[in-house]
Amino acid sequence: MFEIPARYSSCQNLIGGVLSPGSGRQLDVVSPYTGSAVGRVRLSTREDVDAAVSAAHAAWPAWRRTPLRERIEPLLRLRALLLAELELLSNIVAAESGKTPAEAKAGVQRGIEVIDFAASLLNSDAGGALDVSRGVSCEYRRDPLGAVVGITPFNFPAMVPMWMFPIALTVGNAFILKPSEKVPMAAGVLGELATRAGYPPGVFSVVHGDKVAVEALCEHPLTQAVAFVGSSEVARRVYAQSAAAGKRALCLGGAKNQLIVAPDADPSLTVRSIVDSFTGCAGQRCMAGSLMIAVGSADRLIDEVKATAEKIPLGSGMGALIDAAAKARLTDAIAQAEREGAQVLLDGRTAPVPNEYAGGNWLGPTILDHVKPEMECARRELFGPVLSVMRVASLESAFAIERDNPYGNATSIFTSSGAAARLSIERATSGMIGVNIGVPVPREPFSFGGTKQSKFGHGDITGPAAVDFWTDLKKITTKWAAQSDANWMSG
Ligand code: NAD
Repeated sequence: MFEIPARYSSCQNLIGGVLSPGSGRQLDVVSPYTGSAVGRVRLSTREDVDAAVSAAHAAWPAWRRTPLRERIEPLLRLRALLLAELELLSNIVAAESGKTPAEAKAGVQRGIEVIDFAASLLNSDAGGALDVSRGVSCEYRRDPLGAVVGITPFNFPAMVPMWMFPIALTVGNAFILKPSEKVPMAAGVLGELATRAGYPPGVFSVVHGDKVAVEALCEHPLTQAVAFVGSSEVARRVYAQSAAAGKRALCLGGAKNQLIVAPDADPSLTVRSIVDSFTGCAGQRCMAGSLMIAVGSADRLIDEVKATAEKIPLGSGMGALIDAAAKARLTDAIAQAEREGAQVLLDGRTAPVPNEYAGGNWLGPTILDHVKPEMECARRELFGPVLSVMRVASLESAFAIERDNPYGNATSIFTSSGAAARLSIERATSGMIGVNIGVPVPREPFSFGGTKQSKFGHGDITGPAAVDFWTDLKKITTKWAAQSDANWMSG
């Protein structure tokens, strides 16, 4: 189905510029489309991780001394290589993650926007200096941290790593990527392209692995910072573990994003946005809207959401769930919602699956209506194409539900009223807010990050906040000569 060259289907670690398999157990990389193996990966042991961190730590001093202008040269070559290999990388992303080819390509293109931001640092971050007293000046400069780590989830095999490494490398760190063991092949392409782009050996590394590798990276005495993106449960654990080992940590977690629909919402814009939001990437996006909160009478709009979603063909129009466990989790959650009193308005369990994909992990768009805030489908991240619809009488009730949501990635309001939009922006507790937008992802140079259980740690993962995360701000106060007119502030 997707052509994958053999050198990518047999996944290797990239340590000190050299490819080698991990020393741990071997796993198949399974296509969500068909359920068949499309590749394999060996997991890394603590010793493999130690080798990667040691190589990164050894490569770092020369890389940090390289002027920013020169550090950007491989970044620009990498950008050109990514564009040249866009089809290859997108196909690999689709093959291992179950996305449609169009979604896979969009994710890579979104990652390239972070490269553009990182390249712009050359002209935008020249530091600052000021005479603060007679004969005394203060200035600041940014220092990189050393060997730093990015741990990434299955759902964006190329884009989430690209949220991290372009900025981390450009500001002068040596970066170690630990991709999800479910989607290791895209990381192999990124490693190969980074090497071809001219990053020196050890500056960009890839270690495949699971919990063992993650723990070893978080605890290693030579790693300085850990960025993590994945589920809230693991994010919380990785954050605690990294902080206990004295690392800087930023750990992004799961989500349960709300789409608040006011009575004056534009119907066609709203219906399209809601359907795209909950079915895009088969609902496996941390920005997917999974909770629709309809204010007032919304029967017609809900019927249109159903009519639009049920036309989406599995395979060509919507991709697959990552694995059989995800499918079982979602079908159980739908059954549980029914038991708790929700109405299954659209049942994706019976959606037709093309014959060629019969062995895959498929669930069609599903709508659960008359959901109540206490039901499990209203509170838990289901991470699939399932929309839970709640009906409330007022915007105030919608805001109360939003406030109680344990997650805080995204909240969107659909309305024609500027006043209602403004009120929502003020009241919403999520980190990313949309007005008439179903997936309110901030684009560069705006930073990406949520609140509550969607983020452990301070700051955001992209944009200017990421520059702060991957650097120390060094403050320098200077005096070169005694001043005849010095005062007590001149030190
Ligand atoms: P996951 O938490 O299972 O895995 C993420 C990473 O952690 C992987 O690299 C995995 O190998 C590692 N890992 C898994 N279990 C671990 C453990 N017990 N100890 C240490 N490391 C462990 O997440 P996933 O299923 O790959 O990805 C889906 C989740 O990621 C969803 O919850 C989604 O909302 C979230 N996500 C969040 C964002 C965001 O920006 N907030 C973006 C993308 C995905």
